Amino acid sequence: CGITACAAPRGTDVLETLVDGLRNLEYRGYDSSGVAVRNDDGLTVVKREGEIDVLADALADTAPAGAVGIGHTRWSTHGPPTDANAHPHTGCTDDVSVVHNGIVENYASLREDLLARGHTFTSETDTEVIPHLIEMYRGEGLSPEDAFRATIERLEGRFAVAMLVDDHETVFAARDGSPLVVGVGEDRRFLASDVPSFLEHTNRVAFLEDGDVVKLSPGDHEVTDLGGHPVDRPVQTVDWQA
Ligand code: GLU
Repeated sequence: CGITACAAPRGTDVLETLVDGLRNLEYRGYDSSGVAVRNDDGLTVVKREGEIDVLADALADTAPAGAVGIGHTRWSTHGPPTDANAHPHTGCTDDVSVVHNGIVENYASLREDLLARGHTFTSETDTEVIPHLIEMYRGEGLSPEDAFRATIERLEGRFAVAMLVDDHETVFAARDGSPLVVGVGEDRRFLASDVPSFLEHTNRVAFLEDGDVVKLSPGDHEVTDLGGHPVDRPVQTVDWQA
């Protein structure tokens, strides 16, 4: 199970970086994989049960273009390995997509709440409540960032979560119990469960800690606590070999 993400300047295509980033996390184990990429037309999600090569074959046909994206290798805990249960997950629309490592312990009650509000689900995962909650909060007028924070506050369990929305060139992520590390490139930022995911691009990293929320854009990243207060996670150079 692993998360990877990249925010690069407009005109760049991050798809290959994401797929390479997932291959570099294969050692963590997985049963499915997927990516979501954003461009001015919106989000495109491609996800498959099985080896990353199966995903790569599917992507060879569509190759969604975009400078911002998220990727996931899944080790299923809730719902068998299927295309539908693979991440990223979306809400009722494709305006938001989410990848998640870990378990949402209180997913059953959240799901019931959301069903009562008219949301429909397309997977058997605990994860899918996350994009639906974000969608619900955005529907109430919250910004993507505030909707993300409000959603994270509702989750019980261990997790790392990353979110992409259709109308912002920003990746939001949070951790509480599962690892996440930021990679600082010259003109782009990376995010992953572990350094090897992006080590071929940069060895300048900032390790996040439980309770951190990070906002990733091509030229910058900002780490805050759940309440929005800045948190200092120094950028360090690691001498690991790619
Ligand atoms: N609990 C989630 C699922 O079963 C995420 C599993 C993981 O960490 O890959 O889909």
